[in-house]
Amino acid sequence: MKDQFQYILPLAINIIRYFLFAGIPFLIFYIKFPDFFKKNKIQSRFAKRKDFIREILHSTQTTFILAGVGLLMMKTPLIEYTQVYFNISDQPLAWIPVSLILALVLHDTFFYWMHRLIHHPLLFKRIHLVHHKSVNPSPWTSYSFHILEAILESLVAPIILLLIPMHPIALLLFALSSFIINVYGHLGYEIAPKWLRHSLFFEILNTSTHHNYHHEKFNGNYGLYFRIWDRIMKTEHPDYVMQYDLIQKRRFGDDHQSKYNWKIGALFLFIVSISLVNIKAKSPSSIEGKWKDEKTGGIISIYEEDGLYFGQLLGADKAEHNQKIKEKGKIFILKNFKKESDTKYCCGTIFQPLEKRTVKGTLVLEEENKLKINGKYAGFTGSRIWKRM
Ligand SMILES: [Zn+2]
Ligand SMILES: [Zn+2]
Repeated sequence: MKDQFQYILPLAINIIRYFLFAGIPFLIFYIKFPDFFKKNKIQSRFAKRKDFIREILHSTQTTFILAGVGLLMMKTPLIEYTQVYFNISDQPLAWIPVSLILALVLHDTFFYWMHRLIHHPLLFKRIHLVHHKSVNPSPWTSYSFHILEAILESLVAPIILLLIPMHPIALLLFALSSFIINVYGHLGYEIAPKWLRHSLFFEILNTSTHHNYHHEKFNGNYGLYFRIWDRIMKTEHPDYVMQYDLIQKRRFGDDHQSKYNWKIGALFLFIVSISLVNIKAKSPSSIEGKWKDEKTGGIISIYEEDGLYFGQLLGADKAEHNQKIKEKGKIFILKNFKKESDTKYCCGTIFQPLEKRTVKGTLVLEEENKLKINGKYAGFTGSRIWKRM
């Protein structure tokens, strides 16, 4: 039962995410308070009920595909090829927000080029037309894709998982923020605050008006989260900023263009620099992280707890060994090592799972990415080399 649950859970999360995060804005902007938000509406007319039904059906299909790809990457041996780490101390804490931003940048880059590809006349009708049937998008449009586009969209998951070391918390934040920005892009209403226009963020980020224009005009404005690729490739619609200003003028009146706001941009840059310094400061001379035993293929995660270092076996090269590790639960290869110097750790025990014995030993960080494991057993000494992953 527990096994089935862990497969159903990602699907349930995907479905709930869609209906909750698209449903609540729909309820607010389209059912309860459309008059209140009248000035925010980007296109004056409303989409029809049949549009919403079509969008919901296609989006439900997309959530199944996204959940399927997620399961394939996280619940099969493919996880070995990903950079996912489960011990939060394997990376500095600041890596969580930094990896989240990197994942959004990578997703935006993947999306921009994939999006331009499916706008090619040979592919547009066959793949992308379903999404563009929503000329006047609503929150329900967010995942309204043809099945082939849903598969293409889902490819971003393996790309991110293979390239960026991410903790499940960062993955969850990515899944949520990605979808919330997506819903904002299809909201049909501009809700950006007044200060955005003259801040660094306006130069970088997409707005709801930006993506709405893509749906209305069918081309230009291909980016997902950021304006960067559209600006570099000169695919941004020349009227976009003017359109945005018109809507904001309708909302805020003549003083809709507040003065240049450098404070928020500066604060953001300050936080990012502190995070990067923090990451750089922690990485040298720490044995924490993922290691691979070159000889046995074992993958070990080393982490620190109350001043002692432990190494937990995460997996192995051979499927039969992996099965055993799964059955046994937590297997600790290293226990209770103390740091003697930046490169030497002592007085702990080493468990050798193949021989089923525990020996005393020391660890020497010979190079940044090379750890020597020295074991003593019945008067004999032996050593192994682990490489950082
Ligand atoms: Zn498009
Ligand atoms: Zn769209």
